[in-house]
Amino acid sequence: MTPRESAVVRAPLVTILARPTFIAPAHLPVAWVGESTDGERLAEFAGRLCYMSQRNPAQRTTHEYLDNIKKQGHGSVFEHASYSLLLEGVSRSLTHELVRHRAGFAYSQVSQRYVDESAACFVMPPAVIGDAALEATWCAQMDVALDSYVTLIDALMSRYGWVNDTVHRRKMAREAARGVLPNSTETKIVITGNARAWRTLLELRTSEGAELEFRRAAIAMLRALRSETPAFFSDFDIYDAADRWPAARVLYHKV
Ligand SMILES: Cc1cc2nc3c(=O)[nH]c(=O)nc-3n(C[C@H](O)[C@H](O)[C@H](O)COP(=O)(O)OP(=O)(O)OC[C@H]3O[C@@H](n4cnc5c(N)ncnc54)[C@H](O)[C@@H]3O)c2cc1C
Repeated sequence: MTPRESAVVRAPLVTILARPTFIAPAHLPVAWVGESTDGERLAEFAGRLCYMSQRNPAQRTTHEYLDNIKKQGHGSVFEHASYSLLLEGVSRSLTHELVRHRAGFAYSQVSQRYVDESAACFVMPPAVIGDAALEATWCAQMDVALDSYVTLIDALMSRYGWVNDTVHRRKMAREAARGVLPNSTETKIVITGNARAWRTLLELRTSEGAELEFRRAAIAMLRALRSETPAFFSDFDIYDAADRWPAARVLYHKV
């Protein structure tokens, strides 16, 4: 038996959930130049406040202003602009690495104690995709794991039949049975991070040394964030690495 095709996930899905809204204060107007997003204006406003340079004497565009911030390494003003992403189609091993990024991030992830995984999906590791023999070996193991999970859930629900609170009984069963689910089990997570924190995470996780599934998701998150708010991420360069997977390098390291 092979897992139903719909249960095999071959790529992550990134959705922007939230972006900043900038409300320009009438009593401290800035002489804006050029197009920009609310998050970028918020960061520029915060930066200009430090020197009360709202008149914009150098007539810089917001993009030029923020580029200079990156160059000077004064990235604390980037912390005012937060972006929330919904990340789906990623494995539990990826999110285990993801949540190590602490400063400036908030996370909310699907609970395996509360949510039944009997119809779980599994994220095929990128290195396995496209090789029939490797895919078959991997799929067979997902099947075994899922069968064991379902068997354990049924048995544990019976074993703890005296627990009248069914929500509690299901939780007892699911939290024990999940132990047999593999690292590849698909999960969903909401990530909120400020632009400075996103830059640090993306620098580390789009690099050639990053774990491949995380690197693939980080490239997808970089593309989403860069199209949402170009000025914060314009110095990232995406290229095809020697291992034939996309990677990225950043011009201004850790602003
Ligand atoms: C390729 C790669 C391989 C890895 N391998 C392993 C591994 O084998 N084992 C393992 O356990 N982890 C591993 N990690 C995870 C790594 O050690 C970090 O936990 C992770 O990258 C998050 O980085 P960070 O702590 O800089 O991020 P954040 O927690 O987001 O911190 C961002 C920055 O804020 C500052 N900061 C945050 N917290 C503190 C603090 N408490 N004190 C002082 N400064 C702080 C630091 O400047 C830090 O760089 C790996 C990461 C990568 C990218």
